[in-house]
Amino acid sequence: MFQGMTFEPGSLPEGTEALRQEVRAFLASELDPDVLPNSDFNAGVSAEFSRKLAEHGWIGMTWPKKYGGGERSFLERYVVTEELIAAGAPVGTHWIADRQSGPLLLKFGSEEQRQLFLPKIVSGELFFSIGMSEPDSGSDLASIRTTATKTDGGWLLNGSKIWTSFAHTNHYMVTLVRTQPPSENRHAGMSQIVVDLKDENVEITGIKNLSGESDFNQVFFDDLFVPDNMLLGEEGNGWEQVMSELGYERSGPERFLSAFRVLVEFTREIEENGTDEQLALLGRLSAHLVTLRRMSISVATMLESGKLPLSEAALIKDVGTTFEQLVPEVVRQAANPNASKRFIDTLNECILHAPSFTLRGGTREILKGVIARGLGLR
Ligand SMILES: Cc1cc2nc3c(=O)[nH]c(=O)nc-3n(C[C@H](O)[C@H](O)[C@H](O)COP(=O)(O)OP(=O)(O)OC[C@H]3O[C@@H](n4cnc5c(N)ncnc54)[C@H](O)[C@@H]3O)c2cc1C
Repeated sequence: MFQGMTFEPGSLPEGTEALRQEVRAFLASELDPDVLPNSDFNAGVSAEFSRKLAEHGWIGMTWPKKYGGGERSFLERYVVTEELIAAGAPVGTHWIADRQSGPLLLKFGSEEQRQLFLPKIVSGELFFSIGMSEPDSGSDLASIRTTATKTDGGWLLNGSKIWTSFAHTNHYMVTLVRTQPPSENRHAGMSQIVVDLKDENVEITGIKNLSGESDFNQVFFDDLFVPDNMLLGEEGNGWEQVMSELGYERSGPERFLSAFRVLVEFTREIEENGTDEQLALLGRLSAHLVTLRRMSISVATMLESGKLPLSEAALIKDVGTTFEQLVPEVVRQAANPNASKRFIDTLNECILHAPSFTLRGGTREILKGVIARGLGLR
């Protein structure tokens, strides 16, 4: 039966405008004008910048006060993240802990784990990575082979994770492992375990991306001992837990604003003497962006009301990342031959990052499957 998807209308409450201005003023005073901003959330890292955001209460904004959080709304958080990405601020250090690992700990973590990790995430002292993908298991995540075997007082981990963003600088990684051998139910027998990335039995080797930066890694476990209290949630419930992360992971402004700085620089290039074609292109791209933003705000509104709109989030990521890849391509073709160095550098940087937009967080083909399921078509 056709189920459909719902994008309930949502809008940012009036009070968020003052917050937006506050974030803008902060960014104007903090960002170094000599560093070219890049609106890819994975591009810039600065533990110092993350700590300054923390001082303003802009990490863990929606979390309970008893763990240091701000008990603010998802829509207030939306405004802050939107401004950070649009400005090309270096948010990579705290991004995963704030967006994903913290909410996961709040939902499934033990009280001990929450007390241990959440206040330090909020104060910008602890940073997390995601340990899902493996050398032969990306899209088909259920085929992971990293195992955690029960031993006295804990678990012994063996195997390897790959493409792990910032494992070399972050402190912990929520790691998806097999605690039971594969069975007929491919999604059974998996669990999540919090691994200390600074443990001497964790080996981390860097992988260079297209632009020559070392932002992701391969992480190896060889009989790594992890104590019982680092099992996150229930043993065997890993698949359900991982799926619940994805609503947060796929629908935010970072899924359609990665090429935003290219649009800003293109606007600067053509604002005085733009041709009709250039202006029409800018208009078309802007209209597309506004629509994506409304869809994303709709999902943030649903998250605020306690819903978990997974198919809607997948749709935003699919359409949003396709847009992010389109922007550098069509803007390059429409650019002036005598374009400024700033424009060219921004475009070059974006072109080198763009292939990853539709891979990280679930590929285009996989998302289309999730969307089809949400529509009741498979
Ligand atoms: C910049 C970046 C950062 C990342 N950071 C992390 C991280 O921090 N932690 C982490 O765990 N992972 C991370 N990843 C990994 C990412 O999640 C995987 O790359 C992604 O899930 C795809 O897996 P794969 O690379 O194994 O490709 P594959 O799964 O091998 O896919 C290859 C191609 O085949 C297609 N394909 C696969 N299966 C199907 C199917 N059933 N039907 C149709 N087409 C299919 C895919 O769409 C893709 O085009 C990151 C990736 C990138 C690019």
